[in-house]
Amino acid sequence: MTKTRVLISGASVAGPALAYFLHRDGYDVTVVERAPELRDSGYAVDFRGEAFAVLEEMGILAEVREHDTKMRGAVLVDERGVETGRLPAEVFAGELEVPKRELTRILHRITADGVTYLFDDSISALTQHESGVTVEFERSAVREFDLVFGADGVYSTVRRLAFGPHAGKLRHLGLSGAGFSTANYLGLDRSGLLQSTMGAAIYLFALDAAERLTVSLSFATGSPELDRCDRDEQEKAVRAAFAGHGWEAPRLLQAMSEADDFYFSSTCQVHLDRWSCGRIALVGDAGYCAAPTSGMGTSQALIGAWTLARDLASAGGDHTTAFAAYEAELRPYVAENQAKGQQTATMFGGGANAE
Ligand SMILES: Cc1cc2nc3c(=O)[nH]c(=O)nc-3n(C[C@H](O)[C@H](O)[C@H](O)COP(=O)(O)OP(=O)(O)OC[C@H]3O[C@@H](n4cnc5c(N)ncnc54)[C@H](O)[C@@H]3O)c2cc1C
Repeated sequence: MTKTRVLISGASVAGPALAYFLHRDGYDVTVVERAPELRDSGYAVDFRGEAFAVLEEMGILAEVREHDTKMRGAVLVDERGVETGRLPAEVFAGELEVPKRELTRILHRITADGVTYLFDDSISALTQHESGVTVEFERSAVREFDLVFGADGVYSTVRRLAFGPHAGKLRHLGLSGAGFSTANYLGLDRSGLLQSTMGAAIYLFALDAAERLTVSLSFATGSPELDRCDRDEQEKAVRAAFAGHGWEAPRLLQAMSEADDFYFSSTCQVHLDRWSCGRIALVGDAGYCAAPTSGMGTSQALIGAWTLARDLASAGGDHTTAFAAYEAELRPYVAENQAKGQQTATMFGGGANAE
């Protein structure tokens, strides 16, 4: 019997997790990833609730635990750097927190033998027909698949190609920010510092005294427009937001200009009326991003992949039944996480706007 051929776009969390379960269940799995190699993300991600059962089922819980950042929590400071309170580790680090690159590396390792990975490529066109999907790539030759999954993040190409450019507004939560690293000149050791005045927040942490300091400078914005600007424009906006800001702001703004790992992103959620369209379905941030402020994105990506694979197995591979069950089951959980993402963004001075 020929195996069902599936294509997954995105090799971060949701993609390789789905690849693991589908390969285990006898599918012929290909993953396409736009980056030339696994991404080396500088931030840490956390796990909560049922995500532990998913890691356990993949047989990687113990290995993931080995990378526990063991963060000790964050100190809240005012504009003079005077302590005003403390946040326990669980607020930022959940029940377990690991560097994202380690999670991605482990998920890739456990799938690399049975799954075909195409790096440095992207889907460029999707055409559905009665018996499958014809997929065109930017670099590889055109191929036929039975099912296609978009696990390609908040700006998903699969979502745009399959659902149309206007399907599913990105909901901007009114916050944007720059992230980068600098020398750990404050000597933070598995701890963070948070200084937040209306509309602008500085969060600093280091995973170890010997590690670099990770810096996040976030501020209230009216739209995610800055994401599409170049670095000069983005830095200018950060400088304007933190002009006259006390504490470490002047030094951090200087470090920002010198950073070679600068990135800029806006806090957005993905809201869609449906997560599938014929033989194509979305998983993780691509379909229902809850925003980093929810602290639930990684757990949600893992649980989404697990639920989708389980529903495909229960439906005996009937994708229409499986996709409907997947959505019905997961929507309440996603709604809860998105409400959490919204709430925390509001605490940092944001507020929801559809793009
Ligand atoms: C700064 C920051 C901090 C965060 N902190 C936390 C946290 O503390 N806790 C938490 O749970 N979550 C956190 N998150 C969110 C978390 O990283 C995501 O929710 C999670 O990674 C979602 O996984 P995903 O696989 O769905 O998407 P992503 O991790 O976004 O992966 C998408 C993948 O698709 C690839 N891709 C994109 N376009 C294409 C294309 N056209 N073709 C092929 N591949 C493509 C990308 O290169 C990437 O590898 C944070 C996010 C950010 C940005």
